[in-house]
Amino acid sequence: MLEIKDLHASVEGSEILKGITLTINPGEVHAIMGPNGAGKSTLSAVLAGRDGYEVTQGSITFEGRDLLEMEVEERAQAGMLMGFQYPVEIPGVKNIYLLKSALNAQRAARGEDEIPAPEFMKLVKEQLAFMKMDPSFLQRAVNEGFSGGEKKRNEILQMLVLQPKLALLDEIDSGLDIDAMKVVAEGVNSLRSADRAILMVTHYQRLLNHIAPDQVHVLINGRIARSGDRHLAEELEARGYEWVTEEESAA
Ligand code: ADP
Ligand code: MG
Ligand code: MG
Repeated sequence: MLEIKDLHASVEGSEILKGITLTINPGEVHAIMGPNGAGKSTLSAVLAGRDGYEVTQGSITFEGRDLLEMEVEERAQAGMLMGFQYPVEIPGVKNIYLLKSALNAQRAARGEDEIPAPEFMKLVKEQLAFMKMDPSFLQRAVNEGFSGGEKKRNEILQMLVLQPKLALLDEIDSGLDIDAMKVVAEGVNSLRSADRAILMVTHYQRLLNHIAPDQVHVLINGRIARSGDRHLAEELEARGYEWVTEEESAA
């Protein structure tokens, strides 16, 4: 589904990603961990197609298409959806409107008609209840005045409504209390399916107690220093990141 090969990327002329190779198949959940400043958010931003990031070498394909040639909207319409560490506030745009227009854009890209209003309301209300969110959130401007935890729930709500093929979550757990983290983790777990992949970036291991990843990758200084199964996350929690760095430099 997603194939990243020898990806190098720079921000304002300095190289942040220094050769990342990663393959994610449908049905898999991958976690990217690593110390602050390793390049985790830079990788998310490059995948999202955010401005200001220059890919200097390597390739990314999404379902065989050259992702780097795709506009941000095309990526979303092709089924790639991002949830962010700091979700943006969109004053003046109601949450429900954003959900509906995003869903209809996706359907239009597949040549389908707009979703009928009753069907849309049923879908949204089910997912809202699942995320333990009050229906009043639908009528509020997107993320405006939402607490950190409410913004993260709202990101997962979008995913549950839009059902992406690839969900990318950047530090979705930061700033969450235990209860909010469980709700977010349940949301992510309910996204798991044989035809969907999830890539999550997290600084801490605790989210991975609730969402067991198939693979864990440790990003250090712009490179994947080590990959393993979910036990690698436990080892990192117990030992920190320093030992990975040392083993790499000793190798
Ligand atoms: P992480 O998410 O792993 O904590 P980031 O991807 O946010 O790391 O940052 C990686 C490195 O890139 C850091 O050293 C950071 O200072 C640098 N960086 C990120 N954005 C910019 C920017 N806009 N200008 C200059 N340096 C940046
Ligand atoms: Mg960071
Ligand atoms: Mg980050």
